Amino acid sequence: MVEQERSLAELRETFRSGRTRGIGWRKAQLRALLKLMDDNEDQIFNALQRDLGKHPVEAYRDEVGVVKKSANYSLSCIDKWMAPRQGRIPLLFFPVRGQVLPEPLGLVLIFSSWNFPISLSLDPLIGALSAGNTVVLKPSELASECSSFLAKTIPLYLDRKAVKVIEGGTDVAEHLLKQKWDKIFFTGSPRVGRIVMSAAAEHLTPVTLELGGKCPTILDSLSDSSDLKVAVKRIAGGKWGPCSGQACIGIDYVLVEHKFASTLIELLKKTIKRFYGENPKSLKNLCRIVNKHQFDRLRNILEDPAVAASIVHGGSLDEENLTIEPTILLDPPLDAEIMTEEIFGPLLPIITLSNIHESIEFINSRPKPLAIYAFTKDETFKKEILTETSSGSLTFNDVMIQFICDTLPFGGVGQSGFGRYHGKYSFDTFSHEKAVLERSFFLELESRYPPWNEFKMQF
Ligand code: NAD
Repeated sequence: MVEQERSLAELRETFRSGRTRGIGWRKAQLRALLKLMDDNEDQIFNALQRDLGKHPVEAYRDEVGVVKKSANYSLSCIDKWMAPRQGRIPLLFFPVRGQVLPEPLGLVLIFSSWNFPISLSLDPLIGALSAGNTVVLKPSELASECSSFLAKTIPLYLDRKAVKVIEGGTDVAEHLLKQKWDKIFFTGSPRVGRIVMSAAAEHLTPVTLELGGKCPTILDSLSDSSDLKVAVKRIAGGKWGPCSGQACIGIDYVLVEHKFASTLIELLKKTIKRFYGENPKSLKNLCRIVNKHQFDRLRNILEDPAVAASIVHGGSLDEENLTIEPTILLDPPLDAEIMTEEIFGPLLPIITLSNIHESIEFINSRPKPLAIYAFTKDETFKKEILTETSSGSLTFNDVMIQFICDTLPFGGVGQSGFGRYHGKYSFDTFSHEKAVLERSFFLELESRYPPWNEFKMQF
């Protein structure tokens, strides 16, 4: 821990030196990060393969590609983001000049999660560096290969006196949380989010909490069969595609009318077969569950007799390879863990309703989700969902693509977190917008000074 404190002292010293504030330094770090990604693509694929069984195509789509896109986007916009904005100042202050000037916060701490261990570490890092901060990155110990890759490789490319990767588990994280930071950016569970927030309160440190929860998908009866096929393909891709359902914005459950459930189940079964073949537990196209603890958690969920009775497809588990077959459940009990906690795995409950409009009440009677997805062509229903529900994001007729839109803010609301990032929102998250006023010595308004009298009341 003495080593940790020495590192933090060095990072604070670097920030105080002013080196990280210049646009040249920021751009150099972003370019170095891009070079790191290019030079080490195979190593990243290997680490993701070992940690999660992630296929290189998925690894590129969800991790390497995401990071490169973000770094390139920041590089192309950073001049504009850093430029002071003119503030319109009331005539009363004339002659005056007003500006809003983004300045770096200082030394920031980034905690990342294990499910997208490269992108959820490097995407916030891009924001922190673009904004001119020094950074400690604490990757999740549960994706140990990726964590060690980041710890070994980042110092070879980035300014090692400005960016440090500190590896470790809960003890290291707890020690880090005792230090004074200028910002903590946390991606993880609501449980640990609470710990982070109460530790941050000690030093009045601002926090961004990127948490999880249950993301519902509403499927309206689509009369056109080709629309329905597209919807089902997107639902299957969004549920089982990214990290086998171990994704914060992955679909947690689907809401559909009773009469429509059997059609949906048949189409999902066909799609699963097309995507993952006859032996879906093979590690070719599906990630594995991250560790035995998470595997047992999912197994316990399925072993609840009332939940087991609701399985209509899949349900088999392979303990040796830590894989679980894509599994569909029809109307599991609403008070079972599968419907009260975030699933974070390849289990898809389908909840049936008499009328799809009941989905709004269903969602509103639970914590605010990180994402809501809704497949519908009904404009009135879209408007109802938009105005009557609250969630970090709302996507119509697709799933998860909001994550890769740099021009949209990404973050939660309520129990799914607060703060936002991506693109300019990342830059803002790691910056302080300083109000700067400059007056002239000319024109002095005596009425602002005592002694007070009736005449000065007029102003
Ligand atoms: P987690 O909360 O267990 O761990 C996240 C980070 O916190 C890790 O770096 C871990 O080392 C650290 N940590 C663990 N225990 C700690 C403690 N007692 N004190 C301080 N730090 C501690 O979460 P996880 O299992 O890595 O990730 C799964 C959760 O993260 C899910 O809820 C998921 O929805 C959420 N998530 C959210 C997003 C998002 O962008 N909103 C993305 C990915 C995952």
